[in-house]
This record gives sequence, C-alpha cells and structure tokens, in this order.
Amino acid sequence: MEDLEKNLKKIKDEVVSCKKCSLYKTRTYPVIGEGNHQAKIIFCGEAPGAQEDKTGRPFCGAAGKILDELLECVEIKREEVYIANLLKCRPPQNRDPQKEEIETCVPYLEKQIEIIKPKVICSLGRFAMEFLMERFGLKDQIEPISKIHGKVFEAKILFQKITLIPFYHPAVATYNPNMKEDLKKDFKILEKFK
Ligand code: URA
Ligand code: SF4
Repeated sequence: MEDLEKNLKKIKDEVVSCKKCSLYKTRTYPVIGEGNHQAKIIFCGEAPGAQEDKTGRPFCGAAGKILDELLECVEIKREEVYIANLLKCRPPQNRDPQKEEIETCVPYLEKQIEIIKPKVICSLGRFAMEFLMERFGLKDQIEPISKIHGKVFEAKILFQKITLIPFYHPAVATYNPNMKEDLKKDFKILEKFK
C-alpha cells in the first residue's frame, strides 16, 4: 500500500519535470491522472484540452461533464475509477497527438497501469483505442471506432490479464446528442465490472 503511493508519487514527480517531448514548452500544467489508486477501471482519453491544461485535472471541461453523466448512468462514482490520458501535456490548439509524442509519453501511463492493476481499461476515442490495442497485442483486431465501440477484448500485459473496452470519445456527444445515447448504451457493459 505504501509502495503503491510511493510509486505513483514517483511518476508524478517525473512527469512534472519531464522534457522528453516538446509539449512541455507550451503546456501550463501536466495532467498526470486522478482517481482511486486501487481502481478496477481506468479510463484513458487522448490528451488534456484547454480546461485540463489550466487546472491539471483530467476531463474537467465539456467532455468531462459528459463523462460524469455517463458514469452516473451506471452508478459508478468518479472517485472509484482512475482517469488519465495517452499524453500528459496538452498539444497546442488541441491538435492531434503525434505518434512520436504518444510513444514518448505512454510509458508513464503504462507504469500507472502496472501499479494500479485495474481489471478493465476503457479507451476513450480513436487514438487511445488504436494505441492501446496495438500495445496489448490486439493490432489485428483494430476496426474503425464506429464499429469497435463497446466491444470487449481480453489481453495480457506483463503477467496480468486485462480487459480492454473501446468507447467513443465523450467529446463527440458535446455536439451530437445521438452519440450520447450510443455512449450510454455502451457504458452499460461496465455494470459487469464495477
Ligand atoms: N479530452 C481528453 O481526451 N482528455 C481530457 O482529459 C479532456 C478532454
Ligand atoms: Fe513528457 Fe509526456 Fe509532457 Fe511530452 S507530453 S513533455 S513526454 S509528460
């Protein structure tokens, strides 16, 4: 237990002083991740947006409000889960993350996953889905997000079995109410894992 806190703190310290890619130059605060350090479920988005960059907290803007609503629908409290992103620092103007930036930053996320040992990882959006599927040896099962959303995959990382469930990014529901309904339907699967 103490080790767990110590190890997560170590990652936090590393991220705060990280200069491994150029994004550190333009960000305000890195968004390290937050939530239950013994969570069964980890959500992984893409990268911090403007609001997240200002506060250092993941999913605290418009997309975060949708995520909160989705969690509420399946009676999961935000404090029960852990929430992070592929990238810790915001890309300027919210541009797409570059492959090299993800490759450089994702070891922090992987260490967090290794320490927290969740049963389930929920990717939010196409970037997180593609990257994590590839990383978990599921590359040949990648499909467009419009087809793959809500499906359940089993993978092995290190010696741990893990379930990966790709979801649409909650931001899509900020401008498309039909997508919110699709997301709500997909989130129902989480009732089995909480
Ligand atoms: N979008 C993301 O992918 N992550 C956040 O933390 C906020 C918005
Ligand atoms: Fe370091 Fe990640 Fe920030 Fe790049 S995005 S500077 S790798 S913490």
